[in-house]
Amino acid sequence: MTLVEQIEAKAAQLANDCMGGTAKPDECLTSLFVQLEESASEHLTRLSILAPPPTPLHCKPGCSSCCKTGAVQLTPPEALFLLGIIETCGFRYAVTLAARSSARPGCPLLDHQGLCRFYAHRPLMCRAMNSLDVAECRKCEGGEGMDVPLWLPHFETYARVQSGMSASLIKKGKAMPFLSLRKVLALETSVPLLWEEWLKGANPFKAAVAG
Ligand code: SF4
Repeated sequence: MTLVEQIEAKAAQLANDCMGGTAKPDECLTSLFVQLEESASEHLTRLSILAPPPTPLHCKPGCSSCCKTGAVQLTPPEALFLLGIIETCGFRYAVTLAARSSARPGCPLLDHQGLCRFYAHRPLMCRAMNSLDVAECRKCEGGEGMDVPLWLPHFETYARVQSGMSASLIKKGKAMPFLSLRKVLALETSVPLLWEEWLKGANPFKAAVAG
């Protein structure tokens, strides 16, 4: 098994354990993302030593061109993880209003310094993004298309985490459509209700499906 196949298998196993163990699935799936991030970081550290990127990644705090495209997609457990913390912090109403406003394109979670207000809880696609050429990122902001050279092993690591987790949860009868981040943030349904419906096998995110 290759390194990246190992991380996909690990994500699948961790997600599977959440649905069959003694812990409550919502609590378990929430802590799952911490474990997935640890596995992905460990994997990327190993990769950087074995086969480093051709140039250092250009990404740094405040550089938020990818967030400004507003194109992020995520799966229901990622959405529940993120909405859960937004609701707990008391920002749900403000975020819903920002997501529904057309005044600010891009991600409503981005602050005025170009930082993510919920960085530790961001979706897997946000974690996957990276760049070997910041000048190309800036062009995306201007709507000139997305032709950013990526360090593909970094991108693939998070894509495999997402596919391992999704495959496992689909087998458990859970709805796993791709959702639009902006549409998820615009939802008004309470997080406990979203969890309840999703754990029953329904799709409470119909209004947020990407596309
Ligand atoms: S969730 Fe955070 S990292 Fe992801 S697009 Fe929004 S501001 Fe950027």
